[in-house]
Amino acid sequence: MNRRRQVYEGKAKVLFEGPEPGTLVQYFKDDATAFNNQKKGTITGKGVLNNHISEYIMLRLEEIGIPTHFVRRLNMREQLIREVEIIPVEVIIRNTAAGSICKRLGIVEGTVLPRALIEFSYKDDDLGDPLVGEEHITTFGWATHQELEDITSMSFRINDYLCGLFMGIGIKLIDFKVEFGRVYEDDHQMHLVLADEFSPDNCRLWDVETNEKLDKDRFRRELGGEAEAYQEVARRLGVLPESGPGDPKGSEAVQ
Ligand code: UDP
Repeated sequence: MNRRRQVYEGKAKVLFEGPEPGTLVQYFKDDATAFNNQKKGTITGKGVLNNHISEYIMLRLEEIGIPTHFVRRLNMREQLIREVEIIPVEVIIRNTAAGSICKRLGIVEGTVLPRALIEFSYKDDDLGDPLVGEEHITTFGWATHQELEDITSMSFRINDYLCGLFMGIGIKLIDFKVEFGRVYEDDHQMHLVLADEFSPDNCRLWDVETNEKLDKDRFRRELGGEAEAYQEVARRLGVLPESGPGDPKGSEAVQ
């Protein structure tokens, strides 16, 4: 029995109405998709691990002054978040070439970029999240010039901080995708917050010593060991749940 109203179901998460206005419950599923939904599967325990990994990263980012939608973790698979108006732009930061940029520009995977590169794509599954430039974002009104400037500086700050954080646990942050949303305060003031999640579903993480992939590329490229890779990231961050990532069904949100 589920008493809560579902407001959205995405590929890896479900959003339910939260206990108070302006809040939502974000439920992490084990479902995995790749190549714009053409490849589908499950990674057992992924939802539990991503819930814990994303909680950890969002808390660390809050500590350095990046506002996020995260309020608190509720249970193994759910976290309470602030409801935001999602900006329909995916922000990708790359430190090392991998994935789509290699195909698009003929760059060898693993090439270290001379400086971090920012890319934007328009969030639209039907169109396959096409790569867009800043001009598209402002021309079509997806974000203002000021918002784009803030999103860009926050994204580079997130990258600088997380490169160090992951390096401290023997992991190279190759690239990642983040999303931002608008929050309206009681006085109608608006500000931007980091939304969605930060987990091995949305970033590439390579072991410093072996270059072993510890992220969703294991699933995309059918390398096997995807659950173990996510567990290894959680273990190194010190957030592997004591009961293990099991809990296949998950539990009900606290109302
Ligand atoms: N990414 C994501 N969602 C997307 C597209 C990309 O989370 O819809 C992440 C992906 O996991 C990687 C980074 O953004 O860490 C760069 O992805 P890329 O453009 O290389 O696309 P891919 O090769 O994953 O199709």
